[in-house]
Amino acid sequence: MTRKVLTYQAPAQLFRSDSLFQKEYEDCLHIAATSSLKSGLGESLAVSRWFSAPIITFRELFTELTGPEWASAKAQLRQFLLLSDVLAGMWNADTSNSRLKLQAMERNQLQILQTLRTLTELEIKPFHIPVDMIRNNSSEALFLQIWKGMFNRLSGDSASLRGFLNGEAQDAVSLKAALKTWGEELKKNNNAQGTLHRTTSNLPLDSIQQSIDLSLKKKRLILHGFYFITPIQERVFKVLEEEYELIFLNAYDDRFPNTFETVKHFLGIGEHETLRSTDDNIPIHPLAVKLMESLEGESNISIEWKADRYVDLPHFIESEKARLMDDKDCTNEMGYQLITPRAKQVEEQLIANEFVTVPDNRKKLTDYPVGRFLYRLHQIKNQNRNVENGLVTFEENLIPEILLDCFSSGCLFSKGEDMKNYVKSLEKILPYCEGVSTFEEWFARIKKLKTEKEFWEKKVLKNNPGALSDRIHKFHSLPMRLLSYFSVETEDLLKIESGIKALNKIQLALFSDFETKKVNMAVHLQKIEDLVLKNAEDSFNGEEKAIVRKLIDDINNIKDNELEFTLKDISKGLLFYLNGSLEGLDEEESFGEKVYSFDSADAAPFRTNRNFHLAFADQKALPISQDFNLWPIPKGILAHLEISFPELALWTHRTEKSNSITRYLLYILFHSADDIRISFTENLGKESRLDIALYLKLIGCKTVPVKREDFLTERVTMEVPNHVDLKSLGWTPPMQREAQVCPKRAAFSFILNEHTVFQSDFHHSFLYTKYVTVMNRMEKGIKNKFEPDEFRLKVDKWFPQWNNMKKDFLFDFITTSDYAKPRISRNRIDYGEESYSAGMTYLNLLPTGYAGKGSDNVIPVEDVVFHEACPGKQCRYCPYISICRDAVYAVDFEDN
Ligand code: SF4
Repeated sequence: MTRKVLTYQAPAQLFRSDSLFQKEYEDCLHIAATSSLKSGLGESLAVSRWFSAPIITFRELFTELTGPEWASAKAQLRQFLLLSDVLAGMWNADTSNSRLKLQAMERNQLQILQTLRTLTELEIKPFHIPVDMIRNNSSEALFLQIWKGMFNRLSGDSASLRGFLNGEAQDAVSLKAALKTWGEELKKNNNAQGTLHRTTSNLPLDSIQQSIDLSLKKKRLILHGFYFITPIQERVFKVLEEEYELIFLNAYDDRFPNTFETVKHFLGIGEHETLRSTDDNIPIHPLAVKLMESLEGESNISIEWKADRYVDLPHFIESEKARLMDDKDCTNEMGYQLITPRAKQVEEQLIANEFVTVPDNRKKLTDYPVGRFLYRLHQIKNQNRNVENGLVTFEENLIPEILLDCFSSGCLFSKGEDMKNYVKSLEKILPYCEGVSTFEEWFARIKKLKTEKEFWEKKVLKNNPGALSDRIHKFHSLPMRLLSYFSVETEDLLKIESGIKALNKIQLALFSDFETKKVNMAVHLQKIEDLVLKNAEDSFNGEEKAIVRKLIDDINNIKDNELEFTLKDISKGLLFYLNGSLEGLDEEESFGEKVYSFDSADAAPFRTNRNFHLAFADQKALPISQDFNLWPIPKGILAHLEISFPELALWTHRTEKSNSITRYLLYILFHSADDIRISFTENLGKESRLDIALYLKLIGCKTVPVKREDFLTERVTMEVPNHVDLKSLGWTPPMQREAQVCPKRAAFSFILNEHTVFQSDFHHSFLYTKYVTVMNRMEKGIKNKFEPDEFRLKVDKWFPQWNNMKKDFLFDFITTSDYAKPRISRNRIDYGEESYSAGMTYLNLLPTGYAGKGSDNVIPVEDVVFHEACPGKQCRYCPYISICRDAVYAVDFEDN
């Protein structure tokens, strides 16, 4: 049989009844290169049924060919656990100086497994690597040792694939048999989405088997969208072409050979018979023409195009959310589909900020609170290995993020009470507990907090019995309450303590003998079900209950009675299972992403909504990398392997064609778009001063800063103004002054909360200096009773989370600066039976009594409108900057 190439410039050429595709190939099985292309084809078929054959992705087909023994998460988890065992054996036997290398392998265990699986799929065996190319004690030597330890398991698990590739007697799996299983599973499990990478069918499930049979009878297969080919794809194609004619269907335009270089190279245009679906040329989007002409030489086309420039991710999210609302109100009801070369990097943030929603079938277990709880539970114990002497220690790793996730999961109860109710209080005490990571340390630190708090409360109550009677008394009588952790009431501290005790109980039941005891996975998973999931199932309702049920089913699917592993290994393996890493272990395509990644542009021509927003398109994100990772196999050994396995060269070719692949995808996107927006973000994660991608500069894209201020003014008008007479509220002068600096801030402090409270370390540093210099001078009748260094001894106890160096630095800084003795107003504030110092404004409006705002710039008392934001440089000192939508960040002042 042969290979042919069939090209089109736009899908319209495939739909036409006089096209070659319609005449010859519309009823041939359609194998799509990626799941994104399959979903795009599905969208276009819903509008017009332009072909009648089933669509399967290469990944789905490959999964059926390899069978669940190879492709299922259970199989991969077993392989992962065996790899842990092999590594442990090597540690025990190691007497040489390979410890650093072994540690690197242990830390990159998932990558090692991926490399081993890739080699196994390609039928490369340890003996293919010449002994003289392996240096003693090198990473390759260790890898070879691991490979030999894993060989039998990997070989056994991959028997089906081997049967297909070599037609080995009774094991042989045929394309027909694989498709039959695929069709049956889709039908049996009503589309079976998410299981073994199966996606929905484009045909009625009742007729799917019949359609498969009919399409196979044609002895032709359509391979759609393979603008590059991987080594394993080539191996499979070679087997398929023994029985079928392979028709590579792809977008291609011979007027722009450089842009389509990747298609030409991988599909063999010119080498294999190449046909056009129709003979006419279709008009091209001016932006696509400009791109191609600019990249292939000079371009005389002049077009106006702009790229929005955002300062950072919060700026992007806020502005885009507002735009989305405007779009819905106005013209573009379908909105823009977000497509980005930085999908993996930004998707978590975009989901967390509800900018994109995740369809259920694309969620990982850790996207659900209960899955997250299990994930965090398995992170509580850590193994540490000393590379000097190889000794292993185990330690608890109850860091704040883990504890917070456990509290907020809805799965942690103490005395029947859901710890979710105490998340806010827990967040407030976290700064005090910084650096704490074991259960014992948590209990000790909370006890210390309780003791210190009670000591001061008792002391104050002695002279001022009403000190805790209402929030204004609390605010003025105990300035230490400005530190978030001292504002948490004692009964809430006790609840938090009992929640941590409940968590400790679960982890002890699950992980006793963590270090050494071997158990089979089924036993451990049963414990999880009894201790966590059944409780959670009882306490959830409706949709959440169904999610827990699904998790129980998923866990039951991976139960394995046969093999025993140490709990620490099971724990590590489950972490990868729960966060979906095993599912995408050997992914070539972006199966699990929720935000469209740039390589999903291959589906753009077939989408029904072709308004695209190419976002985060900066110079470091484009071109997208096409590197392959076969760590720790060095290039020299790979080059040697290419002699016996020539298809391996396809990886190198793909890497070499990175630029060409990016150009091709940009063309596809621009060419098929009804409308396209471009944007980039200057500061992202650790990267700063990012600029628009060079490709987009070449087409003359001008960058336009998106102004935060404009956007804010617009949105503030949506809020209902709430005029108040501050004086009639009975607020004290420091409270009023906070409203004059920013009414919204005062609303946060005194309407939504009891009083001003600072939670960040940045603000706490200022508070420390103010306590030392201001607080003891605020006391009535005590004039400079304590010198700063005397008073410091008391204040230092409020900051156990800091080391002495930090406290010394802050103390020296403040006592040698002009602020050492601020001129505190002698005014007193009368409230109830008490009179308090007006110096409080230095504390609640740190670093000055105006939070850094000039005294002339505050809002006159009579003009304060509640909830109205007054953003500016003072936001930096505002305790609500992280939750305030109107906040202005220091970076905003740079050049906007
Ligand atoms: S962050 Fe700025 S705008 Fe928001 S409440 Fe604070 S001071 Fe006001």
